Amino acid sequence: MPQHDHPSLRGRTVLVTGAASGIGRACAEAFAEAGAAVIVLDRDAAGAHRVAESVGGRALVADLAEVATLADDALAGVDADVVVNNAGFQHVAAIEDLDPAAFATMHAVMVESPFRIAQRLLPAMYARGWGRFVHVSSVHGLRASPYKSAYVTAKHGLEGLSKSLAVEGAGRGVTSNTICPGYVRTPLVEGQLADQAVSHGIDKQQVLDEVLLARTPVKRLIEPAEVARLAVFLCGPGSDSMSGSSYEMAGAWTAT
Ligand code: NAD
Repeated sequence: MPQHDHPSLRGRTVLVTGAASGIGRACAEAFAEAGAAVIVLDRDAAGAHRVAESVGGRALVADLAEVATLADDALAGVDADVVVNNAGFQHVAAIEDLDPAAFATMHAVMVESPFRIAQRLLPAMYARGWGRFVHVSSVHGLRASPYKSAYVTAKHGLEGLSKSLAVEGAGRGVTSNTICPGYVRTPLVEGQLADQAVSHGIDKQQVLDEVLLARTPVKRLIEPAEVARLAVFLCGPGSDSMSGSSYEMAGAWTAT
């Protein structure tokens, strides 16, 4: 592989949230491959330890919904040069049926915990004059779909936090960007494909083309490793001025 495909992050420490599965796991693997020490944060203790062991990193078991105690409890003693805010989940319901508690939990995990993590880790980044935030947002950080109001609102909030971090970190060596994927091949999406094939009475390829990817010109799922590769790139050589941006990886979804 040419050098630019593996920017060296040797000597850097990366905290990846939701790293026991899917995109987070792929990020843990990609950052480890780029030479970084990886902290694998997840509420799934067994999964966090499994991934940490496989990448030679360390597991940090924490529930990011517990925002009030996050900084003093789970994050006590944690230091990192790079934060990948990835943990998240989906909840599908019409606004009039949506449980306000689910709305609040989604915001705690996907907006407030990234804020608390930043608040805790920024001073040391500023002192070192270098830091990177990569937030795994979504095309739903830029566009809405029906029945995903909590998710769409939280991802838009994460976009705002990223821009705020970018403008405050400017001149202090700290950058912040989001990645906005369309549908990524993770256990969650594979499950949706199988379920919808049964409920619609069509095969999985048809679900992909006509349901999940109906708004997506590029008719393929994104691989987690593709998202992880972009995350590493945003922290590598040449990334100092890449800040405050939202990088779509959504198969031309928003181009139509
Ligand atoms: P996943 O379900 O495979 O993994 C999510 C991980 O986050 C899990 O390991 C889970 O245990 C962890 N997590 C969830 N809530 C947590 C909490 N309260 N505290 C600690 N850990 C918690 O999901 P994924 O598909 O890899 O999604 C990762 C991120 O990518 C999410 O933010 C999601 O919104 C975003 N995203 C996913 C897709 C997709 O198609 N899969 C598309 C766009 C954006």
